[in-house]
Amino acid sequence: MEIAIIAHDRMKADMVQFLNKNKSILIAEKISLIATGTTGSKAENAGFRVQKMLSGPLGGDAQIAARVAEGKTQMVLFFKDPNSSHAHEVDINMLIRVCDVHNVPLATNEATAQLLLNAIGM
Ligand code: PGA
Repeated sequence: MEIAIIAHDRMKADMVQFLNKNKSILIAEKISLIATGTTGSKAENAGFRVQKMLSGPLGGDAQIAARVAEGKTQMVLFFKDPNSSHAHEVDINMLIRVCDVHNVPLATNEATAQLLLNAIGM
């Protein structure tokens, strides 16, 4: 199962903490992680194996959306910063729409991300 992780700048520390908290689920052989560029680097620094896409503002969210549309990514964990605007907002909204089109589980905050991981960790 391929899981995409994305965190906006002010949420990256929370994402790393979340990854570490869920390490036992995320390092399982059946799980592969992909990420937008900078989020992926942070995850790598924390010891995770991650396939990195471009950074979000350079098209990374769009690349992940394409993988969702192609059926390659089965879950998206997106720590969105609700308190800042982004130049690539259209890409972010496109990713959210594509997840809905393809009925792919998408978390846009940590509490929902935890519920999704709990579901696959059982
Ligand atoms: P980043 O992209 O992980 O490269 O910072 C995230 C985003 O802004 O969508």
